[in-house]
Amino acid sequence: MTSPLQKGANNTQTDTRVQVGVKPLISPVPPVALVSSKGARRWANGHPWIYRSDVVTRPAADAGAVLVHNGAGAPLGWALWSPRSEISLRLLDRSPRAQIDAQWWRARLEHAIARRAPLDDVATAFRLVHGEADGCPSLICDRYDRWLVVQLLSAGLERFRDAIVESLIALVEPQGILARNDVPVRAKEGLPRETVILFGDVPREIEVIEYGLRYLAAPWEGQKTGAFLDQRENRALAGAVARGRALDCFSYHGSFALHLARQATTVLALDASAPALARARDNAARNDLHNIEFVEADAFEWLRAAERRRERFDTIVLDPPAFAKTRDALPSALRGYKEINLRAMRLLATGGSLFTASCSYHLTKALFLEVLEAAAADSGRRIAIRELRGQPLDHPEVLTIPESGYIKGALLEALD
Ligand code: SAH
Repeated sequence: MTSPLQKGANNTQTDTRVQVGVKPLISPVPPVALVSSKGARRWANGHPWIYRSDVVTRPAADAGAVLVHNGAGAPLGWALWSPRSEISLRLLDRSPRAQIDAQWWRARLEHAIARRAPLDDVATAFRLVHGEADGCPSLICDRYDRWLVVQLLSAGLERFRDAIVESLIALVEPQGILARNDVPVRAKEGLPRETVILFGDVPREIEVIEYGLRYLAAPWEGQKTGAFLDQRENRALAGAVARGRALDCFSYHGSFALHLARQATTVLALDASAPALARARDNAARNDLHNIEFVEADAFEWLRAAERRRERFDTIVLDPPAFAKTRDALPSALRGYKEINLRAMRLLATGGSLFTASCSYHLTKALFLEVLEAAAADSGRRIAIRELRGQPLDHPEVLTIPESGYIKGALLEALD
């Protein structure tokens, strides 16, 4: 019955019992955080985070699991406690009677993994755990074929590293687990930034299959945990409508371009990064696709020049990096999104399709649509919305947790 949360308890009652070697009949008193009514309201409204300013009495404990009480002393449930972070408490379980131990984590992970079963038919790489949205706050776990890449993003979670790794081994039977804990948010938690093996071994490159296409993921050094798994369904959609002359801007490793190339006559894959394009070339060869041309260029400049040359494309994909990484960057990001969408709309042939996306969290769904409307108004074209897209099954966006959602997509058609 030793639960990790007890390690954090440092009240005298517990200590005395340990010293005299008497096994307690009831569990020792766990560390408690007392939160303001504002903090309690966040949980009541479905958001798992309670900020430092709403913690009235900090738990006398190291990072780990703590019990949360409201001002009246009523227990609200269990949370991960991060002493150094602005996000002090992350909801784990609303039941005060829960035991946050290895079994608890195993049940949570099992539930999250089971939800992804339908993806087994379409891909060998997908997200198994999407943090707070899967009830596993600050934990990311992506599967790449027989390997897992995880991110443990809070000090409280770090205390459960062993339990999580053991559960993942039991549930998925992977050949290796890599922690891509090199992300900046770890510093805010007082945690080291590192990329380390937690189990077995993980290769530098992993070939994954997605809707019948092969591409290499780079778990150790690639963006995110090694690939952009969050656009899988959108790549399939863009591939399904592709035809004629196609353009994939911000191509990275060419994953949209590969899908376009199966249907289109020719594809132009454009990216500012030569190493990214080298991988895209390799991925094309891996699939015996020979109708992709690779162009190293700045997308803004290239699109402007293509418009001057009056080029036309039947299919265009715009999947840029997050232009608004912070709220302050939003105004200039809006100009950037509008500009590329406007140019792409003008380059569309009559009846042509544009799949356009934004992965900036700060650009809301409403703002994304506003940008597209403004671009369409300036383009001089009649642009129809064929489909609005959100996040796939394996990246659930919970309505009460805005931070769990960031991808917006739209499939547009030039009517004339
Ligand atoms: N569509 C890709 C992900 C795109 S990631 C996929 O589904 O896998 C963003 C890419 O945009 C990166 O490869 C980066 O090199 C590229 N990029 C960033 N700024 C750019 C610019 N101004 N012009 C062209 N490419 C750019």
